[in-house]
Amino acid sequence: MVDMLGDHDLDLRGRLIRSLGALREMLPGSFVERHRKCGKPNCRCADGKQLHSEFQVSVLLEGKLKTFHIPAELAEEARSKVEMHKRFQEAAATIGHINLRRFLQRKGKKVKR
Ligand SMILES: [Zn+2]
Repeated sequence: MVDMLGDHDLDLRGRLIRSLGALREMLPGSFVERHRKCGKPNCRCADGKQLHSEFQVSVLLEGKLKTFHIPAELAEEARSKVEMHKRFQEAAATIGHINLRRFLQRKGKKVKR
């Protein structure tokens, strides 16, 4: 008898593995966009409606949260590369769960989802 669930898992795992190469330029951490006033009284930001955008990537490095300023021209690239890292982590988690389920099935044990 064919194990349909197992086939589905293997298909999904294969697809996830093949998708990882496209994420090779991923960046860790979180992307933050802040809006602020610069403090100059005659600036467009003074009325609080057209604030300046400021971009940052925050990364946990050796247990410490480091924040890096990102210039506006690199902001969209940084945002999408941080997003790639999230997709990578989600894929890794799913692959790990599939493998755990398959591994534990060999013990003849039911695995809770
Ligand atoms: Zn300003």
